[in-house]
Amino acid sequence: MTREAVAAELRAAGEELAALGAAQDGDAFTPLQQADALIKSSPEAFLLGVLFTQGVPAERAWAGPYLLRERLGHLDLERLAAEREAVARAFAHPPALHRFVKTVPGWVSSAAARLIEEYGGSAAAIWPDGARVTEVTRRLLEFPGVGEKKAVMAVEILVRHFGVALEGTECGSVAYDVHVRRVFLRSGLAEADTPEAIRAAARAACPEAPGLLDLPAWQIGRAWCRPREPRCAECRLGGVCARIVQHAPTGVGARRR
Ligand code: SF4
Repeated sequence: MTREAVAAELRAAGEELAALGAAQDGDAFTPLQQADALIKSSPEAFLLGVLFTQGVPAERAWAGPYLLRERLGHLDLERLAAEREAVARAFAHPPALHRFVKTVPGWVSSAAARLIEEYGGSAAAIWPDGARVTEVTRRLLEFPGVGEKKAVMAVEILVRHFGVALEGTECGSVAYDVHVRRVFLRSGLAEADTPEAIRAAARAACPEAPGLLDLPAWQIGRAWCRPREPRCAECRLGGVCARIVQHAPTGVGARRR
Protein backbone atom coordinates (compact mmCIF):
# COMPACT_ATOMS: atom_id res chain seq x y z
CA MET A 1 0.00 0.00 0.00
CA THR A 2 2.80 2.41 0.85
CA ARG A 3 4.38 1.94 -2.54
CA GLU A 4 1.12 2.70 -4.34
CA ALA A 5 0.59 5.76 -2.19
CA VAL A 6 4.12 7.04 -2.85
CA ALA A 7 3.64 6.42 -6.56
CA ALA A 8 0.36 8.31 -6.56
CA GLU A 9 1.87 11.27 -4.74
CA LEU A 10 4.90 11.44 -7.01
CA ARG A 11 2.70 11.17 -10.09
CA ALA A 12 0.53 13.98 -8.81
CA ALA A 13 3.62 16.11 -8.26
CA GLY A 14 4.87 15.28 -11.74
CA GLU A 15 1.54 16.16 -13.33
CA GLU A 16 1.49 19.48 -11.50
CA LEU A 17 4.97 20.30 -12.76
CA ALA A 18 4.07 19.22 -16.28
CA ALA A 19 0.97 21.42 -16.22
CA LEU A 20 3.09 24.38 -15.18
CA GLY A 21 5.66 23.57 -17.85
CA ALA A 22 7.49 26.51 -19.33
CA ALA A 23 5.02 28.92 -17.74
CA GLN A 24 6.35 28.13 -14.31
CA ASP A 25 7.97 31.36 -13.19
CA GLY A 26 10.15 29.71 -10.61
CA ASP A 27 11.36 26.97 -12.91
CA ALA A 28 14.61 28.66 -13.78
CA PHE A 29 17.48 26.54 -14.98
CA THR A 30 19.90 28.96 -13.40
CA PRO A 31 19.51 32.17 -11.38
CA LEU A 32 21.60 34.09 -13.92
CA GLN A 33 18.77 35.58 -15.95
CA GLN A 34 20.55 36.01 -19.27
CA ALA A 35 21.86 32.45 -19.02
CA ASP A 36 18.41 31.12 -18.20
CA ALA A 37 16.91 33.01 -21.12
CA LEU A 38 19.52 31.58 -23.46
CA ILE A 39 18.81 28.00 -22.39
CA LYS A 40 15.09 28.58 -22.89
CA SER A 41 15.41 30.30 -26.27
CA SER A 42 18.16 28.35 -28.00
CA PRO A 43 17.95 24.57 -28.56
CA GLU A 44 21.69 24.58 -29.29
CA ALA A 45 22.43 26.26 -25.95
CA PHE A 46 20.16 23.73 -24.25
CA LEU A 47 22.12 20.88 -25.79
CA LEU A 48 25.40 22.46 -24.69
CA GLY A 49 23.90 22.90 -21.21
CA VAL A 50 23.22 19.18 -21.11
CA LEU A 51 26.92 18.62 -21.81
CA PHE A 52 27.82 20.96 -18.96
CA THR A 53 25.75 18.95 -16.43
CA GLN A 54 28.66 16.87 -15.28
CA GLY A 55 29.76 16.87 -11.66
CA VAL A 56 28.84 20.48 -10.96
CA PRO A 57 25.74 22.03 -9.40
CA ALA A 58 22.88 22.32 -11.84
CA GLU A 59 22.74 26.10 -11.65
CA ARG A 60 26.38 26.36 -12.64
CA ALA A 61 26.00 23.87 -15.46
CA TRP A 62 23.07 25.64 -17.08
CA ALA A 63 24.86 28.98 -16.86
CA GLY A 64 27.74 27.47 -18.84
CA PRO A 65 26.62 28.13 -22.44
CA TYR A 66 25.96 31.80 -21.70
CA LEU A 67 29.28 32.25 -19.91
CA LEU A 68 31.07 30.50 -22.76
CA ARG A 69 29.38 32.87 -25.23
CA GLU A 70 30.48 35.81 -23.12
CA ARG A 71 34.07 34.64 -23.23
CA LEU A 72 34.16 33.71 -26.91
CA GLY A 73 31.92 36.47 -28.15
CA HIS A 74 29.75 33.93 -30.00
CA LEU A 75 28.22 30.47 -29.91
CA ASP A 76 28.62 29.95 -33.63
CA LEU A 77 28.59 26.22 -34.35
CA GLU A 78 31.08 26.41 -37.22
CA ARG A 79 33.57 28.21 -35.02
CA LEU A 80 32.93 26.04 -31.97
CA ALA A 81 33.69 23.02 -34.13
CA ALA A 82 36.73 24.45 -35.91
CA GLU A 83 38.38 26.53 -33.19
CA ARG A 84 38.92 23.85 -30.58
CA GLU A 85 41.89 25.51 -28.94
CA ALA A 86 40.03 28.79 -28.53
CA VAL A 87 37.14 26.93 -26.92
CA ALA A 88 39.52 25.12 -24.57
CA ARG A 89 41.22 28.38 -23.62
CA ALA A 90 37.87 30.02 -22.90
CA PHE A 91 37.03 27.19 -20.52
CA ALA A 92 40.37 27.23 -18.76
CA HIS A 93 40.71 30.98 -18.24
CA PRO A 94 40.35 31.70 -14.50
CA PRO A 95 37.88 31.29 -13.04
CA ALA A 96 37.50 28.04 -14.96
CA LEU A 97 34.16 27.63 -16.69
CA HIS A 98 33.84 24.06 -15.56
CA ARG A 99 35.29 21.56 -13.16
CA PHE A 100 36.35 19.36 -16.07
CA VAL A 101 38.19 21.80 -18.32
CA LYS A 102 40.01 19.03 -20.12
CA THR A 103 36.95 17.12 -21.29
CA VAL A 104 33.92 19.40 -21.58
CA PRO A 105 35.46 21.77 -24.18
CA GLY A 106 36.05 18.79 -26.45
CA TRP A 107 32.46 17.68 -26.00
CA VAL A 108 31.26 21.17 -26.95
CA SER A 109 33.34 21.24 -30.14
CA SER A 110 32.34 17.70 -31.06
CA ALA A 111 28.67 18.48 -30.45
CA ALA A 112 28.89 21.54 -32.68
CA ALA A 113 30.46 19.48 -35.45
CA ARG A 114 27.82 16.77 -35.09
CA LEU A 115 25.00 19.32 -35.15
CA ILE A 116 26.32 20.73 -38.40
CA GLU A 117 26.96 17.39 -40.05
CA GLU A 118 23.89 15.46 -38.93
CA TYR A 119 21.24 18.03 -38.09
CA GLY A 120 21.81 20.99 -40.38
CA GLY A 121 23.04 23.09 -37.48
CA SER A 122 19.77 22.83 -35.58
CA ALA A 123 19.57 21.00 -32.26
CA ALA A 124 15.78 21.09 -32.52
CA ALA A 125 16.14 18.69 -35.44
CA ILE A 126 17.23 16.06 -32.91
CA TRP A 127 13.84 16.16 -31.25
CA PRO A 128 11.13 17.16 -33.76
CA ASP A 129 7.52 16.86 -32.69
CA GLY A 130 6.32 13.33 -33.26
CA ALA A 131 9.73 11.70 -32.81
CA ARG A 132 9.77 8.75 -30.47
CA VAL A 133 11.33 9.04 -27.04
CA THR A 134 13.55 6.05 -27.74
CA GLU A 135 14.83 7.58 -30.99
CA VAL A 136 15.57 10.97 -29.45
CA THR A 137 17.34 9.25 -26.57
CA ARG A 138 19.43 7.26 -29.03
CA ARG A 139 20.35 10.40 -30.99
CA LEU A 140 21.40 12.20 -27.82
CA LEU A 141 23.53 9.25 -26.76
CA GLU A 142 25.53 9.64 -29.96
CA PHE A 143 26.93 12.95 -28.69
CA PRO A 144 30.24 12.58 -26.84
CA GLY A 145 29.67 13.43 -23.19
CA VAL A 146 26.03 12.31 -23.16
CA GLY A 147 25.39 9.14 -21.22
CA GLU A 148 22.17 7.46 -20.25
CA LYS A 149 21.50 9.77 -17.34
CA LYS A 150 21.93 12.97 -19.33
CA ALA A 151 19.90 11.64 -22.25
CA VAL A 152 17.00 10.68 -19.97
CA MET A 153 17.19 14.03 -18.22
CA ALA A 154 17.22 15.94 -21.51
CA VAL A 155 14.22 14.05 -22.88
CA GLU A 156 12.28 14.64 -19.69
CA ILE A 157 13.01 18.40 -19.81
CA LEU A 158 12.12 18.57 -23.50
CA VAL A 159 8.72 17.00 -22.85
CA ARG A 160 7.91 18.68 -19.55
CA HIS A 161 9.44 22.09 -19.85
CA PHE A 162 9.59 22.79 -23.56
CA GLY A 163 6.42 20.93 -24.49
CA VAL A 164 8.03 18.92 -27.27
CA ALA A 165 5.41 16.42 -28.44
CA LEU A 166 7.42 13.22 -28.39
CA GLU A 167 5.71 9.89 -28.93
CA GLY A 168 6.13 6.83 -26.76
CA THR A 169 6.53 8.53 -23.40
CA GLU A 170 5.84 5.12 -21.89
CA CYS A 171 9.39 4.35 -23.01
CA GLY A 172 10.81 7.28 -21.06
CA SER A 173 12.48 6.81 -17.73
CA VAL A 174 13.95 8.48 -14.69
CA ALA A 175 17.63 9.28 -14.51
CA TYR A 176 19.79 7.15 -12.22
CA ASP A 177 20.62 10.24 -10.23
CA VAL A 178 21.72 10.44 -6.61
CA HIS A 179 18.68 12.46 -5.54
CA VAL A 180 16.19 10.33 -7.47
CA ARG A 181 17.74 7.15 -6.08
CA ARG A 182 17.61 8.38 -2.51
CA VAL A 183 13.93 9.25 -2.73
CA PHE A 184 13.01 6.03 -4.51
CA LEU A 185 14.84 3.93 -1.93
CA ARG A 186 13.82 5.74 1.22
CA SER A 187 10.21 5.99 0.17
CA GLY A 188 10.07 2.28 -0.59
CA LEU A 189 9.34 2.80 -4.26
CA ALA A 190 12.44 0.82 -5.24
CA GLU A 191 14.07 -2.05 -3.40
CA ALA A 192 17.55 -2.03 -4.86
CA ASP A 193 20.06 0.64 -5.79
CA THR A 194 20.71 -0.32 -9.39
CA PRO A 195 19.78 1.53 -12.59
CA GLU A 196 17.56 -1.38 -13.58
CA ALA A 197 15.70 -1.45 -10.25
CA ILE A 198 15.17 2.30 -10.17
CA ARG A 199 13.89 2.37 -13.74
CA ALA A 200 11.69 -0.67 -13.17
CA ALA A 201 10.21 1.04 -10.12
CA ALA A 202 9.43 4.14 -12.19
CA ARG A 203 7.78 2.01 -14.88
CA ALA A 204 5.68 0.21 -12.29
CA ALA A 205 4.67 3.44 -10.61
CA CYS A 206 3.80 5.31 -13.79
CA PRO A 207 3.57 2.91 -16.75
CA GLU A 208 2.30 5.45 -19.28
CA ALA A 209 5.08 7.99 -18.63
CA PRO A 210 7.79 6.90 -16.17
CA GLY A 211 9.78 10.07 -16.92
CA LEU A 212 7.03 12.07 -15.21
CA LEU A 213 8.47 10.99 -11.85
CA ASP A 214 11.96 12.22 -12.60
CA LEU A 215 11.72 15.89 -11.72
CA PRO A 216 9.54 15.59 -8.59
CA ALA A 217 11.82 12.90 -7.19
CA TRP A 218 14.88 14.97 -8.00
CA GLN A 219 13.40 18.09 -6.42
CA ILE A 220 12.34 16.23 -3.27
CA GLY A 221 15.75 14.61 -3.03
CA ARG A 222 17.56 17.89 -3.33
CA ALA A 223 15.34 20.02 -1.11
CA TRP A 224 14.05 17.71 1.61
CA CYS A 225 15.33 14.15 1.33
CA ARG A 226 18.91 15.08 2.05
CA PRO A 227 21.62 12.49 2.63
CA ARG A 228 21.64 13.37 6.33
CA GLU A 229 18.74 14.56 8.44
CA PRO A 230 15.99 14.44 5.82
CA ARG A 231 13.29 17.02 6.42
CA CYS A 232 10.41 14.55 6.43
CA ALA A 233 8.00 16.85 8.22
CA GLU A 234 8.14 19.28 5.31
CA CYS A 235 8.34 16.67 2.55
CA ARG A 236 5.42 16.08 0.24
CA LEU A 237 5.91 12.35 0.68
CA GLY A 238 5.97 12.60 4.47
CA GLY A 239 2.54 11.06 4.86
CA VAL A 240 3.21 8.02 2.72
CA CYS A 241 6.96 7.42 2.75
CA ALA A 242 8.35 4.13 4.06
CA ARG A 243 11.56 5.90 5.10
CA ILE A 244 13.80 3.01 4.21
CA VAL A 245 16.80 5.10 5.14
CA GLN A 246 19.13 2.19 5.68
CA HIS A 247 19.07 1.49 1.94
CA ALA A 248 19.71 5.04 0.87
CA PRO A 249 22.92 6.06 -0.88
CA THR A 250 24.81 8.68 1.05
CA GLY A 251 27.50 9.57 -1.46
CA VAL A 252 27.21 12.56 -3.67
CA GLY A 253 27.10 11.84 -7.33
CA ALA A 254 26.49 13.96 -10.36
CA ARG A 255 24.09 16.80 -9.99
CA ARG A 256 21.96 18.24 -12.72
CA ARG A 257 19.18 20.79 -12.90
S1 SF4 B 1 12.38 13.46 3.11
FE1 SF4 B 1 11.59 11.87 4.47
S2 SF4 B 1 9.45 11.62 3.79
FE2 SF4 B 1 10.53 12.66 2.12
S3 SF4 B 1 11.19 11.01 0.76
FE3 SF4 B 1 12.88 11.46 2.18
S4 SF4 B 1 12.67 9.98 3.87
FE4 SF4 B 1 10.71 10.06 2.75
